[in-house]
Amino acid sequence: MYRVNENYLKLPGSYLFSTIAKKVAAYCEEHPEAKIIRLGIGDVTLPLCPAVIKALHSAVDEMGKAETFRGYGPENGYAFLRDKMAKMDYEDRGCHIDPDEIFISDGAKSDSGNIQEIFGTDNCVAVCDPVYPVYLDTNVMAGRTGEYSREKEGFDGVVYLPCTEENGFSPAVPADDAPVKPDIIYICSPNNPTGTVLTKEQLQAWVDYANRNGAVIIYDAAYAAYITEPDVPHTIYECEGARTCAVELRSFSKNAGFTGLRLGACVVPHDLKREVTYIDPQTGEKVTRNVELHSLWTRRHGTKFNGAPYIVQRAGEAVYSEEGQRETKEQVAYYMRNAAYIRENLAAAGFTVYGGVNAPYIWLKTPGDLTSWEFFDRLLAEANVVGTPGSGFGPHGEHFFRLTAFGTYENTTAAVGRMIEWKKKAGI
Ligand SMILES: *Cc1c(COP(=O)(O)O)cnc(C)c1O
Repeated sequence: MYRVNENYLKLPGSYLFSTIAKKVAAYCEEHPEAKIIRLGIGDVTLPLCPAVIKALHSAVDEMGKAETFRGYGPENGYAFLRDKMAKMDYEDRGCHIDPDEIFISDGAKSDSGNIQEIFGTDNCVAVCDPVYPVYLDTNVMAGRTGEYSREKEGFDGVVYLPCTEENGFSPAVPADDAPVKPDIIYICSPNNPTGTVLTKEQLQAWVDYANRNGAVIIYDAAYAAYITEPDVPHTIYECEGARTCAVELRSFSKNAGFTGLRLGACVVPHDLKREVTYIDPQTGEKVTRNVELHSLWTRRHGTKFNGAPYIVQRAGEAVYSEEGQRETKEQVAYYMRNAAYIRENLAAAGFTVYGGVNAPYIWLKTPGDLTSWEFFDRLLAEANVVGTPGSGFGPHGEHFFRLTAFGTYENTTAAVGRMIEWKKKAGI
């Protein structure tokens, strides 16, 4: 008799986006004339840039000719892409990452969910609160946590790192002698949902903590292209010692609009290793040696993944061309113009806003002490604007609201205008 993986049943179910969709649908049914503007979308809206389209077309043509057809590619990705990433994402920033340490994938969501597999189930996980849900949920599924506590709004056995107004959304590094010490620490900067970043100094403190305590940092750099300020690292490897404690996840989704195309990468430096005593399956003998995470991830990739599509990797390569760089930077600038508009105008109208400087997200404090959902309901009904309740990303997201800059400029400015009007009328 088979048994299901009961760890899945520990998950409280993320009703966030389905609840939003239901509420919006119900409102639209009652008010068919209402013109709703959505500032809740977490997806890009601009089409792929010409350099990427050109590369896709030419790769498709190659696939149609016997001389240039490609079947299975290297599991870890084609060298033409890994070399470009090693050079432009790392070497040009003064960091050394070997192309062999870059594993091409179909996106950062898969990597952030899969990476936990190469760690023992008895590791203690730390996540930010509020947080992108994938990091924790995949660890719950793997049985690396206790039960969900409704009272705590969190799982037993997990270290939550509150990101609050008080700490500037930069979570405090645990004390070295804290009773519960995290082994696997997830950090995303620029962050979704708060739109805030860790400075080089703040990230360095995490790297130092991890090296001192033998922890590993899973660093999600999906929004690196949105960084505008100088003291914010674009990769964790800008921090000293990160090669011995950090895995980095990269994505083509937000910097180049690949959300539908699918491409990402996971960086696992050879310097990440742990001494392990185990029975060698070849000799049957007990051995003690340093095991590299790189070799485990290579094994995992080789066994469970057959590589990202050739045509998509060619498209990814085009992002690194001169044209591709210029065109994708224009797209990011378009979204960041929206972000600046939202941030500046809402702030001028008396809203308290964070983020939006190095990220396409604005983290708005709900006015009048409204809960995240109360604010959502009122904004929907009274301004016809949709955003995302902060409490949906974790208990410390309560009394916050996420607005995204991924819409059109026209819709963005109109929505901000409505919010400002709403605030005046509501007298909050
Ligand atoms: C959008 C996003 C990603 C990107 O995921 P892909 O699978 O590459 O599309 C990764 N991390 C965070 C926090 C995100 O918001």
